[in-house]
Amino acid sequence: MSLIVAKFGGTSVADYEAMARCADIVLANPSTRLVVTSASSGVTNLLVALAQTGLPESQRLALLKQIAAIQYAIVDRLPHNDEVAAAIDSLLTRIDVVSQQLQHEADKALTDELLSLGERCASILFAAVFRAKGAVAEAFDVRQVLRTDSHFGKAEPQIGQIREFSQKLLLPGLASRLLVTQGFIGADADGHTTTLGRGGSDYSAALLAEALEAEALQIWTDVAGIYTTDPRLAPNARPIAEISFNEAAEMATFGAKILHPATILPAVRQQIQVFVGSSKASEKGGTWIRHQVNNPPVYRAVALRRDQTLMNLHSLQMLHSPGFLAETFATLARHKISVDLITTSEVNVALTLDKTGSQSSGQCLLTEALLQELSQHCRVRVEDNLALVAVIGNQIASTPGICQRVFSVLAPHNVRLICQGASSHNLCILVHEAEAADVVATLHRALFEAP
Ligand code: ADP
Ligand code: ASP
Ligand code: MG
Repeated sequence: MSLIVAKFGGTSVADYEAMARCADIVLANPSTRLVVTSASSGVTNLLVALAQTGLPESQRLALLKQIAAIQYAIVDRLPHNDEVAAAIDSLLTRIDVVSQQLQHEADKALTDELLSLGERCASILFAAVFRAKGAVAEAFDVRQVLRTDSHFGKAEPQIGQIREFSQKLLLPGLASRLLVTQGFIGADADGHTTTLGRGGSDYSAALLAEALEAEALQIWTDVAGIYTTDPRLAPNARPIAEISFNEAAEMATFGAKILHPATILPAVRQQIQVFVGSSKASEKGGTWIRHQVNNPPVYRAVALRRDQTLMNLHSLQMLHSPGFLAETFATLARHKISVDLITTSEVNVALTLDKTGSQSSGQCLLTEALLQELSQHCRVRVEDNLALVAVIGNQIASTPGICQRVFSVLAPHNVRLICQGASSHNLCILVHEAEAADVVATLHRALFEAP
């Protein structure tokens, strides 16, 4: 059986009309048997707001009301909707109960359960929209197959078990009906609900496509494919017809929100082609991500990742005693800090830390305990409000003239750090958050719009 997995993001399932458009896309191709859905647009943000402790009751009730309104706007459009309405009611009640519990005490496992309810509502509603169009469709609880560890908020998928459970519990059902399942969520070995991190539905879909050995994975979103940069930042950004796994993975890693950073890994492991297109305008085509592409260009795209922290460590010890860096990285590893970019000088090392995707906000990554431990052997300076801009391409490190072209247009800007040479696919610079959008637009003009 040839199988296509189709994932729809939040705006694609925002309301009844959007879901109906997506259903038409799926039903037009009988090979599309598994649908992975995000929560309807805005719902996860509302659930994150509800998960805060100590919310004034009026605010909690207002958030509940907004979530219910989004679900009910869809329920009300469905024919014969009693069963669906009852299922949604019971999930809304669960949202109410869990959010009340969280008011008294923060709890990571309960927070993940709360966040999972957006996708659970969407899958029930989306399956009903398919049935309203005459298809045989059901919602499938992905927690039966998407096994993760217990790292709530950013759980690690257990690939072997996901494959085993998907083959046993999900694949047989796909022969007789379309199944609509949830992105973003999973369950640990004790059956506790987990989440894969914000934007994780792309990753879920890729994991399921891998487990089911699908022929292709479709990511349907609100733009007609992967562009040369975020079209919101550069109005002249162009769609890319075909891109390699390597290039797409670099873009996702360096912040192109169009794909969750881990999405490409399962597709590479199983050699699954990925298509990215717009559910609002499927006729516009989109981007194919493939193992190999013809004539990969030197400049492929510009990506932006906001919310970066720069940590500068200064120590005279660095001059004479070997092992300073080893000690520093061991300390960071003990505190579960993953380092992103690094540059060093004689007595300084500068590193960037990525805060995006962490549910904890801002400086929380850098705990007092970590800073104290580091200050025992060096002076620590921390700078926030920075953004990472990456030029993504091919043979960047070995093509003459690239730095000249990039830096000549950045004269008005203060570049805080540069990383070039480690990968032939990127050149990264760190700039102040306030200048980031301008830097992206300027680079895009110079590299992609110049005659
Ligand atoms: P979904 O909810 O469907 O997962 P996202 O909002 O997560 O959608 O991702 C789509 C958004 O990604 C687009 O609206 C666009 O603003 C942003 N984006 C960032 N970089 C790019 C890029 N290079 N090409 C296309 N879109 C991009
Ligand atoms: N609903 C989740 C989020 O908003 C997951 C996703 O949309 O990919 O982060
Ligand atoms: Mg997304």
